[in-house]
Amino acid sequence: MDRKTNIKRISDERTVWDLAIIGGGASGLGVALDALSRGLRVVLFEKADFAQGTSSRSTKLVHGGVRYLAQGEIGLVFEALRERGRLLRNAPHLTENQPFIIPVYTWMDRWKYSVGLKIYDWMAGSLRLGKSRFISRDETILRLPQIKAKRLKGGIVYHDGQFDDARLALAIAQTCDQLGGCLVNHFPVLDLTKDETGSLNGLMVKDALSGSKYRIHAKAVVNATGVFADKILQMDEPGIRKTIQPSQGIHLVVDKSFLGGSDALMIPATSDGRVLFAVPWQDKLVVGTTDTLREKAKMEPRPLAKEINFILETASHYLVKPPSRKDVLSVFAGLRPLAAPKEGSQKTKEISRSHKIIMSKSGLVTLTGGKWTTFRKMGEDTLEAIGKMGALALRPSTSVDIRLHGHTDLVEEGHWKWYGTDADELRKLVKENPSLGRRLHDSYPYTEAEVVWAVRREMAMRVDDVLSRRMRMLILDAHAAMAMAPRVADLMAEELGKDQPWKDKELADFNKLADKYRIDSL
Ligand SMILES: Cc1cc2nc3c(=O)[nH]c(=O)nc-3n(C[C@H](O)[C@H](O)[C@H](O)COP(=O)(O)OP(=O)(O)OC[C@H]3O[C@@H](n4cnc5c(N)ncnc54)[C@H](O)[C@@H]3O)c2cc1C
Repeated sequence: MDRKTNIKRISDERTVWDLAIIGGGASGLGVALDALSRGLRVVLFEKADFAQGTSSRSTKLVHGGVRYLAQGEIGLVFEALRERGRLLRNAPHLTENQPFIIPVYTWMDRWKYSVGLKIYDWMAGSLRLGKSRFISRDETILRLPQIKAKRLKGGIVYHDGQFDDARLALAIAQTCDQLGGCLVNHFPVLDLTKDETGSLNGLMVKDALSGSKYRIHAKAVVNATGVFADKILQMDEPGIRKTIQPSQGIHLVVDKSFLGGSDALMIPATSDGRVLFAVPWQDKLVVGTTDTLREKAKMEPRPLAKEINFILETASHYLVKPPSRKDVLSVFAGLRPLAAPKEGSQKTKEISRSHKIIMSKSGLVTLTGGKWTTFRKMGEDTLEAIGKMGALALRPSTSVDIRLHGHTDLVEEGHWKWYGTDADELRKLVKENPSLGRRLHDSYPYTEAEVVWAVRREMAMRVDDVLSRRMRMLILDAHAAMAMAPRVADLMAEELGKDQPWKDKELADFNKLADKYRIDSL
């Protein structure tokens, strides 16, 4: 995936793309993958980095949604369970089968959750990841060593998937690249262009790193900008009604010893009716999330003190030695692009979690809502809608069977796992230049070679691209990420041919950003 080559393709004004996609998160990438599977000529513009928005800030679950089952969203759960199974098959290097345990404190709860999860198992059919079952009090304590034992009756084990969201986004982008797609990051769409009849015929875009602007001709345009969708809809039709209601969710990252073991904890009903997860992930424990309506869509939403307190307080009801503020290594927030209800309700639970496709008069197609797990199906549905509109002649979709970049059945242990088949290439790089085998931080496995690789092969252009999404350091441990940043900037500058002022600016920007992930600065 080479940005320079792609910019050359973009700059050829004679090209008429079949499909131009705005947004390089789960939704935009799902649309790109499906369109490419049908042989279309596809260009995608991401204003920041791939998955820099909500798509790198999820709970990292590939799931049907036990909670949505309880809310009766049967169709959504069926669809998500099917997609869960397909994703685990198409990207085994980026996903895992994760057992979850619901601690049970009353016999009524045992009955309720056992029945619910049996239905969940049944709905997954042949794509089931494991049978749910009741386990005794002793086994629950053995598997969740830090769970409070008082009044505990036992636990219900069930299975869902887990993944690395930002690296999955990257793997989809790389797969799209291999299929002939032209994807670029740090490339905001500035405006939509229309013909004399008012029909959309392209975009005005800008390379945020060079300042150059380009005119793009396209037969169809998809707006997949998540919580920013209304901005593009406003470009198309100034004054149009708001379609998105952002809802914030935060996560705290702490040492995995606060839960112990390798099972995840699921609390199905917290004091205010939410679900709370504590999930072992990349050798840490990710605890979340919240559901707080926010007015504005922001690239870097700030966690609220009340959200942090809620998570710590809820965890303290279940854990023997609960984490406190000082134990939090990083805190990150994301915004759900929920489809706003017509009558503007204030309750997030009443707002649909399924995706929505909006067809504008100009031909603009907007994809909003949904979840990471169903990204591929959301893409397929969007293409089907475009086909019905008559804008493009479509071949059948084959995205369901596409193995994603790096796919291997011989999945490695540790952080090399996420690279899939690229891990061998990385090791070759270290063999050629052994100094690249040096670690960037004593406490973390990431090596200098991965920075070089990220620039050469993964379109990483900024220090944040490397430390937040190629490696997940910023959300795993904000202090450690700051300590790694100077060496990352040096290595990147060497690869990209940048000077000292570039390094200084990158470091200043990264440190300012990292402050937002440190609990001591909130
Ligand atoms: C707290 C939280 C936890 C979640 N957990 C899970 C989970 O465990 N499992 C699951 O399946 N789902 C989960 N989700 C849902 C899932 O993360 C989202 O549905 C999904 O990431 C949304 O992707 P998106 O592409 O629509 O939006 P985004 O990821 O926000 O992508 C939109 C992109 O558009 C870009 N953009 C905006 N304007 C422009 C422009 N003018 N030009 C070019 N690009 C532009 C942005 O930079 C952004 O990258 C969670 C969501 C949240 C908030």
